[in-house]
Amino acid sequence: MKALQYREFGARPEVVTVDKPVPGPGEVLLKMTASGACHSDEFIMSTPADQYVFAPLPLTLGHEGAGVVEELGPGTTGIEVGQAVLVYGPWGCGMCHSCAQGSENNCVHGISAPGIHRPGTMAEYMIVDSPRHLVPLGDLDPVASVSLTDAGLTPYHAIKPSLSRLSPGTTALVIGVGGLGHVGVQLLRALTQATVIAVDLDRSRVDQALELGAHHSFISDSDAGERIREFTGGRGVDAVFDFVGAQSTADLAQSSVAVAGEIALIGVGTGTVGAGYLTLPFDVSVRVVNWGSRSELMEVIELARRGAISVTVSEFSMDDAPSAYEQLHAGKVRGRAVVVPTR
Ligand code: NAD
Ligand code: ZN
Repeated sequence: MKALQYREFGARPEVVTVDKPVPGPGEVLLKMTASGACHSDEFIMSTPADQYVFAPLPLTLGHEGAGVVEELGPGTTGIEVGQAVLVYGPWGCGMCHSCAQGSENNCVHGISAPGIHRPGTMAEYMIVDSPRHLVPLGDLDPVASVSLTDAGLTPYHAIKPSLSRLSPGTTALVIGVGGLGHVGVQLLRALTQATVIAVDLDRSRVDQALELGAHHSFISDSDAGERIREFTGGRGVDAVFDFVGAQSTADLAQSSVAVAGEIALIGVGTGTVGAGYLTLPFDVSVRVVNWGSRSELMEVIELARRGAISVTVSEFSMDDAPSAYEQLHAGKVRGRAVVVPTR
């Protein structure tokens, strides 16, 4: 079968032919219908060899997957051959306190995720370790829905704890309107009465944020902090969602947040927010977010089914999968790049 692999440190990923995997006891073999390209894959491929902590190379990329159940391993129950599914990506132990709550993303033993710690979704077939990590897709389109598993789930998990704070008259700030951020804007509009401000470095993302319902959107330049203060009458924003993770965006989050506000750091990067008596307004909370829970994925799918959110998708064939990453690397993907193996 064809698979997109990161094979050599510093090199671009390649489409190669590998053996079709065979499901072991308790496992599920999926025939993939769609796979999303996340900026975190770029992070993996830009990590220097001496700091690399992911699966040994070659690594089949991709942690956003949709497929149809092709075959069940010995003893696998709870799912039917032919069923259309989405893959819940952060695979935990299933047994610890976090996993028992469905928050496998916070498994106390760490997660094992496809495309990060084991073979991923960017292939014609993949193994899923347990039916527990599959969610029925129903009649939703796999290409339009596949990125709900991360670009939808992660912003949802970031925003959900802030919902009670985002009452009418409050303001939320989205920094970075890419794969995750463009869903973040929609979630804030669908779930809150807050005024939504979105900033990005790229003009087309600023325009997209406005199309998706942001009340204000502008380029994240050196004046951005001041403009945000102006829009909030000097008060600052009640919740900041940093979908970039750079020091400049963490600084913007820190300087924009209001008294008793919240900062969620979602982007994978080296940016930090200093918390101290003299560095943050009083009663501010800072949260670091990784992916989301199984039940939250079901909630996100329900929001998509109702038409409250949707992912803007650019489709690529399997042979063209490397160019999906080229475009992501160059900042040219609007919404999410999705690889369709059957195309
Ligand atoms: P993306 O490339 O699709 O989007 C990033 C967006 O941020 C782009 O629109 C880009 O123009 C904008 N941007 C870049 N630098 C900026 C800056 N300094 N100020 C304002 N905007 C800026 O990426 P994505 O797939 O949406 O991922 C976003 C980040 O979230 C990445 O760091 C990714 O690794 C991370 N991520 C984290 C989790 C998690 O669980 N915490 C999950 C998925 C992705
Ligand atoms: Zn991701």
